[in-house]
Amino acid sequence: MHVRPSALRENLARIASSVGPEARLVPMVKADAYGLGVEAAVDVLEAAGVWGLGVATVEEGVALRASGVTRPVIVFSPAPASSLADAVAADLTLTASMAQAFEDLAEAAAGAGGGVDVHVEVDTGMGRAGFDWRAPEAWSDAAREAAGRGVRWTGCFTHLHSADGDADSVHTQWGRFQEALSGMERAAGVGEGDFLVHALNSAGALRCPEYAADAVRPGIFLYGGGVGADLPAPTPVAAVRARVVHVKEARPGDTLGYGATHRAKGPERWATVAIGYGDGLPRILGNRGHALVRGRKVRIIGRISMDVTVVDISDVPAAEPGDVVTFIGADGEEEITVDDVAELAGTISYEILTGFTPRLPRIWSDRDGP
Ligand SMILES: *Cc1c(COP(=O)(O)O)cnc(C)c1O
Repeated sequence: MHVRPSALRENLARIASSVGPEARLVPMVKADAYGLGVEAAVDVLEAAGVWGLGVATVEEGVALRASGVTRPVIVFSPAPASSLADAVAADLTLTASMAQAFEDLAEAAAGAGGGVDVHVEVDTGMGRAGFDWRAPEAWSDAAREAAGRGVRWTGCFTHLHSADGDADSVHTQWGRFQEALSGMERAAGVGEGDFLVHALNSAGALRCPEYAADAVRPGIFLYGGGVGADLPAPTPVAAVRARVVHVKEARPGDTLGYGATHRAKGPERWATVAIGYGDGLPRILGNRGHALVRGRKVRIIGRISMDVTVVDISDVPAAEPGDVVTFIGADGEEEITVDDVAELAGTISYEILTGFTPRLPRIWSDRDGP
């Protein structure tokens, strides 16, 4: 995988200019920065001056600290009680989603003999985590009680469910969030110093920047995934390429791959490429997806194997072993985006990017090359 730091910077700048200078940037770098390689991504994001970083798990946050990150790191998924001590020791900001979380956090803070920063999640329609927006007293009471025990309430957020396609849903969720915020009685300590209100993911930041509040949490757009047909497309960031390692002159009737699902109709040229589902190339692209060879679009034929994929180069007579084959990215005038692949695979860009495995090297460079 070839990743362009300049493209990541460009996409971050577009989010920043959409939401304006008041909103702090908290890029999400969970799941190895959406599969692109978290250490290199963090170098670029830190150099661009982001305020903090968002992850999903305590382990991801601890790894950031181990690699030298000192700015705020927010763990967004509800953390199991068993990992809270590690989180407190690493000075991670946690999120609270249920009253029990405040109990657990207070205990972890006491165990560490210090304090812990917490952002309260308000469920405004996502349903998978957070306090119900209709019952702000449930969390403000819990937060106030825990505040005396080392749990510093330093933020409040909600998460949007349909910002990629539907502005109305964003307005509705924002309205609920505001209702919850004004309905709560702020716990002791809230409003003193830094208190961050935040709601927007990538799609929200581009579609409804008026709700940027104190901070925004972009993810997929930074990494080159589109966030809605009616919104601007990101600059592509990651390209996936591999080399031809074998060429076969197939005779009519020759069969290809497991299940022999492709059979040469006439004389055909087949190129075997050194990438398979073991690298994260979706197996469902067999007999369905495309690749680029010498600037031409070619078909993926037969089933994708764990280690190799075969493309039909009958129309690219000059193709030979050693040629670079592009599965995501540009070659000459042609381009295959991660969203093209996701659509063919019946999924989303997020799953395609995070599906690439450690066997596929991540090469961060602004120079061209495979
Ligand atoms: C992953 C995540 C985001 C980023 O969403 P994108 O759609 O990738 O921009 C924002 N907020 C939270 C809480 C998340 O988990």
